[in-house]
Amino acid sequence: MMTFEGKIAVVTGASRGIGRGIALELAKRGASIVVNYNASADAANEVVAQVEGMGGKALAVKADVSQEADADALIKTAVDAYGRIDILVNNAGTTRDNVIMLMKAEDFDTVVQTNLRSTWLVSKAAVRSMMRKRYGRIVNITSISGIMGNAGQTNYSASKAGIIGLTKALAREVASRGITVNAVAPGFVLTDLTSGLPEELTKKLNENIPLGRWGTIEDVAQATAFLASDEAAYITGHILSVDGGLAM
Ligand code: NAP
Repeated sequence: MMTFEGKIAVVTGASRGIGRGIALELAKRGASIVVNYNASADAANEVVAQVEGMGGKALAVKADVSQEADADALIKTAVDAYGRIDILVNNAGTTRDNVIMLMKAEDFDTVVQTNLRSTWLVSKAAVRSMMRKRYGRIVNITSISGIMGNAGQTNYSASKAGIIGLTKALAREVASRGITVNAVAPGFVLTDLTSGLPEELTKKLNENIPLGRWGTIEDVAQATAFLASDEAAYITGHILSVDGGLAM
């Protein structure tokens, strides 16, 4: 069984949805967690309480990870609190969907900054600490939209495709330092991000998923935990689809 006993993990956007699920999965397996959030302080504190309830350690840290000073402060707080970082999960993300003719440039910028720039900024800050220890696991949460493209999501798809390139480039850069960098590409998972989709569209989407259902937060959390584990030591630069077969 994968264990994270004694490991320190930073999960961005861990107050809600998939990030929360990843934080709890790693904590359940013994990791101490830095629960990053931006707006949802109460939800983040609840995740901390849940980890502590399992007998684990956790710390909620507010940081807008699309901003360099915040990203640096997040990693500094984690290292000050726990001495090092073993695992970084770049999960924080957002959408501003629209067809390109109606999409505002600021919606493009917000999504690329929140999803892609944040992944670059937090990785940069964390790699410094991981290199010193010659150990690290970075798992970036991309999306099926970054692989297949999704109409109405030119900004989001571009940001998620960017994460795939970043993952592979960084994997090559830091491999010799004992750091692996991989990505998980979820298909459709019910969270606040996707709860607004019309029922008809959801039904139509299901028809195209070979496994016939949406993914669960746990499906994504377990795949992420695997890539963050010692068992995945020989895997780097890989994009693991967790999509019920939708993108194959
Ligand atoms: P969600 O429920 O909307 O949660 C998003 C999380 O990101 C929240 O915890 C939010 O924290 C945090 N966040 C947003 N902007 C942030 C910022 N600037 N700084 C720090 N944290 C920030 O979304 P989700 O569905 O769980 O998505 C999580 C990740 O999975 C995203 O990268 C998303 O693109 C990806 N994904 C989701 C699906 C899906 O079907 N749901 C599919 C493929 C990929 P606060 O509320 O505290 O601001």
